[in-house]
Amino acid sequence: MTLDIQRAGQIDQASLFHPFTWVEDLKREGPNVITEGKGVRVKDIHGNEYLDGMAGLWCVNLGYGCQEVVDAIAAQSERLSFFHAFNGMSTDVVIECADELLKRAPVPMSRVFFGASGSDANETQIKLIWYYNNLLGRPKKKKIIARWNAYHGSGVLTSSLTGLPGMHNLFDLPIGPILHVTAPHHYRKAAEGQSEREFSRALAAELEELIAREGADTIAAFFAEPVMGAGGLIAPPEGYFEEIVPILRRHDILLVLDEVVSGFGRLGTYWGSQTINVEPDLITAAKGVTSGYFPMSACFISPKLWEVFEAEAPRAGVFAHGYTYSAHPVGAAAALAALKAIDDKKVVENVAEVGPYLHQAMRNAFADDPIVGEIRGIGLMIGIELVKNKATKEPFPASDRVGRRVLQAAAQKGLITRALGDTLVFAPPLVINKSEIDELVQKFKAAVDAVRPELG
Ligand code: PMP
Repeated sequence: MTLDIQRAGQIDQASLFHPFTWVEDLKREGPNVITEGKGVRVKDIHGNEYLDGMAGLWCVNLGYGCQEVVDAIAAQSERLSFFHAFNGMSTDVVIECADELLKRAPVPMSRVFFGASGSDANETQIKLIWYYNNLLGRPKKKKIIARWNAYHGSGVLTSSLTGLPGMHNLFDLPIGPILHVTAPHHYRKAAEGQSEREFSRALAAELEELIAREGADTIAAFFAEPVMGAGGLIAPPEGYFEEIVPILRRHDILLVLDEVVSGFGRLGTYWGSQTINVEPDLITAAKGVTSGYFPMSACFISPKLWEVFEAEAPRAGVFAHGYTYSAHPVGAAAALAALKAIDDKKVVENVAEVGPYLHQAMRNAFADDPIVGEIRGIGLMIGIELVKNKATKEPFPASDRVGRRVLQAAAQKGLITRALGDTLVFAPPLVINKSEIDELVQKFKAAVDAVRPELG
């Protein structure tokens, strides 16, 4: 490394426009510069070690330094560093990768379409859905329903789909025929005394009303993450998908499951759809497909859509969509190695075992804590919402930035978490073991305890 350690922070600030970063925080504190990683741990430029409770950004499922993936990337880069899949071109590894992915799909799927990120994959899904309805001669059936608090990406349309006002306000979004419904957030959105099941029924009624108001002939699809991630880590309340999915089916509205985070084991099943027991028409995968070792995404297309594409396309003309990196051979080699490692290391089985262990350990540590309002999530996705008053659920004033302060205290203790407002979340590498989970919980408790005296 040639970078001057002392000046790294200054050079960063003089050169890099950081995603999702408050300029003032960065100016005051400088960047935290990470330089290496192994297993569930990373090191910063000063040699401090952290347990990475977020697997990077919910993606490094196999942990850092997974040799099989590293070697596959190196070998493929040397053999064939790039070729594309436009105009019927293909590469051997991409063919194998598509086949291996289809074999692992939770329901029969006909094709995969590759991209480089979750955002571009969800943009592709929207276009596939519009293409489908155009081919079927239903030009009005184009609106897409998403939920408030959803995260589906940072593109213009996928930010619009995303249900976070912070991602809309300064960008003149949302645009496009996009509708939002209430987030399935029982803790924050249910009426006083409403059970989870009753809340799910109320959300189903809201959806039904929206469809009636807009007209089913104008609504094309419904997007959902099995467990909402970046919008606050929200697991569906009891009966939610059971209530929602029949309504979609009745009105011929496609269901897109955004499995960018939940795919490849995070919830303790290979796919999130298996945890929530839902059969999607389209699946979006990214992140875990290469364990974050290479930017890659995949849209899974069900026979229902594919049969229409195949039957109608000859008359419609070329499928005029794709990215330079739609089928990158190095990404495919990384994915093939990652998929094999997920099987060989029994990663999904590990999550099924250590996921409940993490939830129990967090509950044991915080059961009676007066500022822990709710602990929620499934598998290796967990959120701990801090509140000023546990009985009334009153939040801390946003300006106190309690979540961020806990995040910083955790970093000082060698633990990386993420603050979604005052909900601290963890989505560690899926290879984490029980003793590392004990360490995560103990460090997190120490961080909360360090901030507690300042909270009055
Ligand atoms: N969907 C979900 C559920 C996500 O969590 C993310 C990213 N966190 C995306 C889509 C977008 O993926 P990317 O950042 O790779 O574009």
